[in-house]
Amino acid sequence: MYLIECYRCEAVMGTEVSGEVLSEPLDEEIPVPAKVTLVACPKCGVALVGVEESYGECKEDGTPDWAEPVRVWPEPPLLLDLRIPRDVRMSLMEAHKCLKCKAYTASVGMSGRALEAIGRHLNPNETKPLMLGAGLQKLYADKVIDARLYEWGKALAQTRNLAAHASGTHFRREDAEDVFRFSTNICEYIFVLSAQFEEFMERRKKGVQQ
Ligand SMILES: [Zn+2]
Repeated sequence: MYLIECYRCEAVMGTEVSGEVLSEPLDEEIPVPAKVTLVACPKCGVALVGVEESYGECKEDGTPDWAEPVRVWPEPPLLLDLRIPRDVRMSLMEAHKCLKCKAYTASVGMSGRALEAIGRHLNPNETKPLMLGAGLQKLYADKVIDARLYEWGKALAQTRNLAAHASGTHFRREDAEDVFRFSTNICEYIFVLSAQFEEFMERRKKGVQQ
């Protein structure tokens, strides 16, 4: 019996395996073998693909000790780049967890907290920790974000305020998912894409010099 979380039922289901491939490691530097499994949810019939990895541990009979299966299709698990600072990442992970538990208003609040953590992370010497609005303003003034991202950030901040205070607003799934997606993308833009572009320019400069 194969245990995997169904995308539609949002519950862990035990099901029969329809197909399985023992994959050679994708990357020579990280030689982790993987077992890729195709199943159908026994309740709703949706196809699901799970991946188990083995980190070199073996069972007594010499077969790999596979880690718990992780669903990779539909909707892969949340993978956040480690260049996103820990405080920011933790808030995004919480926001994602809230989405999974259908706690949409709480999720909007946590996405807002991730945005707030950006300003605080980049301005650790402020006498008072930067609140979300002031933090965004500072990011814009320091040219960390451009005018469009600043506008997006302000709209997200207003939405977050409705979630954070007893405004009587309750959020729907689509809204909470959008707020999460925009917040994650702003974090990736600031901490990942910008660093990757600098690395690219650095390589280009070296290439020109050679
Ligand atoms: Zn299902």
